[in-house]
Amino acid sequence: MNPIDFVRPSIRALKPYSSARDDFKGAAEVYLDANESPYNTGLNRYPDPWQKELKKAIQNIKGVPQDMMLLGNGSDEVIDLLFRTFCEPGMDGCIVMPPTYGMYEVSADINQVAVQKVLLNEDFSLDIEAVKAAVTKNTKLVFVCSPNNPSGNLIPHDLVLELSTLPCMVVVDEAYIDFTEASSAITLISDHPNIVVLQTFSKAWGLAGVRLGVCYAHADIVAIMNKVKPPYNINLLTQQVSLRAIENEQQMMAWVAAIKTQRDVLPSILEALPIVEKVFPSDANFLLVKFNEDPKRIYEFLASLGIVVRDRSSQPRCQGCLRITIGTMEENLKLVDMLQLYAAGN
Ligand SMILES: *Cc1c(COP(=O)(O)O)cnc(C)c1O
Repeated sequence: MNPIDFVRPSIRALKPYSSARDDFKGAAEVYLDANESPYNTGLNRYPDPWQKELKKAIQNIKGVPQDMMLLGNGSDEVIDLLFRTFCEPGMDGCIVMPPTYGMYEVSADINQVAVQKVLLNEDFSLDIEAVKAAVTKNTKLVFVCSPNNPSGNLIPHDLVLELSTLPCMVVVDEAYIDFTEASSAITLISDHPNIVVLQTFSKAWGLAGVRLGVCYAHADIVAIMNKVKPPYNINLLTQQVSLRAIENEQQMMAWVAAIKTQRDVLPSILEALPIVEKVFPSDANFLLVKFNEDPKRIYEFLASLGIVVRDRSSQPRCQGCLRITIGTMEENLKLVDMLQLYAAGN
């Protein structure tokens, strides 16, 4: 199967914008080609539209060649680019598996792409037969979130591979992959060119503020998406700060280790509280906690004490659930204290 076949015909035929930095690639003494200011602010020049230095650093830590990478202004931009590359507005569709990340549906709606919802099973595992049954000739994208937000569980690679036999693109969103021992689906791409993997610097790397998402895909897919992306979508500050973070990868690993330690100890502490019915196992940096009383009241109580968590109780399969990000030990202890206080008052 050739994944290029799933690309919108108009995008396949698209002649991309050629930026000043594309027309002249060398180093010059005087740049009078891009209508930039000649006055040095440190930021007066356009950034590298191909982010070569940053991609090289990512290649060094991930072992993925640069022509299989596309960088986005957060994964959210990459999700939008996928819709614009593969889905004909008003005609094509995608499949999402609630409860999951809300941006897939919003981005689909913005692009006028139909959303087919196939619920995860009661235990948040993937319902492969239901997904297969939901695919139509207009289905272009299937979104798999692994570890899944908000349930925290991994979707095994054998299921991703089974999905990849379908005549569409399979997008594996690995925003939380750094928090698990499981391997990335990146390794599947070379044999299964309709698999696309998304990762982000927003979570483990501690850089939600810089907005950097990475899309790993077959080189032909990356080449097409490169035509669709805005030329300078990754600004210079983002490129510089992200490079510095990668040079200091040890720091990220230390943070991840600390969060995993908290993830190991928190569930039993929380489950000891009378208001907690269950803490779902997590491969991510959050816990989905099911309460045996009104989660909205617990949410409001915590908020009134300055602790904000995410109310997911209206999501399918998440009745009674709050999603709680794992913070520092001090923050988590404060959370537990306040939940104890709530439980004592009830
Ligand atoms: C947080 C998150 C992202 C990150 O999006 P960015 O735009 O890169 O910040 C992507 N996918 C999922 C499932 C997430 O939870």
